[in-house]
Amino acid sequence: MAYSYEAPVSQSLFDRASVVTPGGVNSPVRAFRAVGGTPRFMVSGAGPYLTDADGREYVDLVCSWGPMILGHSHPEVIAAVQEAVSRGTSFGTPGEGEVALAEEIVARIEPVEQVRLVSSGTEATMSAIRLARGFTGRAKVVKFAGCYHGHVDALLAAAGSGVATFGLPDTPGVTGATAGDTVVLPYNDLDAVRAAFAAHPGEIACVITEASPGNMGVVPPADGFNAGLKELCAANGALYISDEVMTGFRTSKAGWYGVDGVRPDLMTFGKVMGGGFPAAAFGGRGDVMAHLAPAGPVYQAGTLSGNPVATAAGLAQLRLLDDAAYAKIDAVSAELRSLVGDALTKEGVAHTVSAASNMFSVFFTDQPVRDYEDAKKQDVFRFTAFFHSMLEQGVYLPPSAFESWFVSTAHDERAVERIAAALPAAARAASEATA
Ligand code: PLP
Repeated sequence: MAYSYEAPVSQSLFDRASVVTPGGVNSPVRAFRAVGGTPRFMVSGAGPYLTDADGREYVDLVCSWGPMILGHSHPEVIAAVQEAVSRGTSFGTPGEGEVALAEEIVARIEPVEQVRLVSSGTEATMSAIRLARGFTGRAKVVKFAGCYHGHVDALLAAAGSGVATFGLPDTPGVTGATAGDTVVLPYNDLDAVRAAFAAHPGEIACVITEASPGNMGVVPPADGFNAGLKELCAANGALYISDEVMTGFRTSKAGWYGVDGVRPDLMTFGKVMGGGFPAAAFGGRGDVMAHLAPAGPVYQAGTLSGNPVATAAGLAQLRLLDDAAYAKIDAVSAELRSLVGDALTKEGVAHTVSAASNMFSVFFTDQPVRDYEDAKKQDVFRFTAFFHSMLEQGVYLPPSAFESWFVSTAHDERAVERIAAALPAAARAASEATA
């Protein structure tokens, strides 16, 4: 499909990139394959705006997939980074910055007694699973279809629905043996979890879940779901791992834990806590974390873990995220949700605006979405038309119907007005789209 608003500089960069990098990108969803067209190569960001290589400015509703919760180039974060960089970029020794970041995380999130810093969310979930297996001496991991925990081999299994389905590898390169220890269940289905524990007595090391999923679009846990998981894990000697890579420090000061209060055994973090740099973490119960090397036998390490520049950025960002900041993000999110909903209603487009605190996404269906199977039933072609109309009008949405939209403290009235002005035409495009 050709689009009327071409982006010649981005296109020529993409052509160059495609020669030297598989698919032209370093993370698949950036390639725009789900929506078609030319991926935009961004050259700068300021507040709620991104500017691409063709010189066009966009209101950014991706925020680097979550991290940029203060907007781009926040002066205090940039100053902290500059100060850290001026002292050197990596020492391979302990440093005070990583202690301060760990203290900030432990202070904010009560179930986290100890935390280990890593460089990506994938590393955090991979390490948490290894620790859970090492701690329990068990092999099997339960995950939910539609929940993404990074590209950890064992977690790239998402077999179709069905109770206690053994995971089939989702991708070549993940062996059947690896995926075979993963039990994939439908989200929001506690009976399926009960059945899995009954089918594999004494074998399940942990249940890992997104604290509130944002990787099948935003599908919040049903009332009592996370609490039920916690209970079932405790009753069966398994650990409950809450993946807060996306929700952590975003959905409240204490992430999703701050919203539902269900106490995980282990938690994973990333995105916001890195302030736009590669910093992530996993942490939780002190007795479990004590099994990690060098305190205990479960090995885990990283050359750049606790990097001084990344920790300075993360710490500066977290320290700016006070109650007023969350109130602002929540208010902007609520305003945008109602603007989007009204525009789609006006054009008679079937839709559901789904929110979890300030994270939200739009499903192009009026049926309830409780799990991945429901999410897949939406009219994706309507999202595609909506996306391109917004892009053409200078609003940058996630290039997939199955991703959360993100806002920041920098999304001010002017940015919201620009989004509001783009919505009527985008809603019309969605209504006129054909499959
Ligand atoms: N867990 C969740 C819930 C995520 O959303 C992501 C990334 O989007 C990850 C883990 C993986 O994090 P990273 O991309 O930093 O490896």
